[in-house]
Amino acid sequence: MTSRGAGTWVVATSNPAKLREIREILSELGVECVGLEGLPPITFPDEGDDYAENAARKARSAAEQFGRVAVADDSGLEVAGLDGGPGPLSARYGGPALDDSGRVAHLLAELGSSSGAARAARFVCVAALASPDGRVVTRRGECRGWIRKEPSGTSGFGYDPIFELESDGRTMAELDDAEKNRISHRARAFRALAALRLPSLPRSAP
Ligand code: IMP
Repeated sequence: MTSRGAGTWVVATSNPAKLREIREILSELGVECVGLEGLPPITFPDEGDDYAENAARKARSAAEQFGRVAVADDSGLEVAGLDGGPGPLSARYGGPALDDSGRVAHLLAELGSSSGAARAARFVCVAALASPDGRVVTRRGECRGWIRKEPSGTSGFGYDPIFELESDGRTMAELDDAEKNRISHRARAFRALAALRLPSLPRSAP
């Protein structure tokens, strides 16, 4: 049985933008997904600073609580001039009071006028798939680029308006949804998960 024969996957995320992307990426591959709406409330474990552990914990707790195959991701932006930060802490960068545009402004301020290699960056996503019997597997995807000095574009979410794609020259927020979902870090990680054969999932956590 391939992952496509595994029924509908629960996507364990409270981020609607991520849910939309994951649904679109997987539906292209014939994998049907549902979000958490309509399911009993779930409390996610506290996040640490390791993408794979965070993603695995989220997927495992949803799979256990709902008794269904569940997927989750943990993702972040890594910037050379910020020593690889904010990384797994991207969602909380600059403190809890900031929204997406506040975090973008904070990151631009932290980078200041630095140029060249300091602005090299990558988006990282680790996607995890968990089955109700405790098996978990993770796959990682990356997307390389640079941090622009000014935001540009209105699509996507998070740091998309300041991330210029190495492969394209546009920012991630200048791509339409279908274009982002072909090349993004999230698309790469979830495509690798969808290619798995579920019976071969390891029994131990990553
Ligand atoms: P988490 O995976 O829920 O910890 O959140 C990851 C954070 O990284 C998001 O809140 C965004 O700030 C950022 N991020 C992750 N993926 C993307 C993306 O595809 N575009 C823009 N920002 C992203």
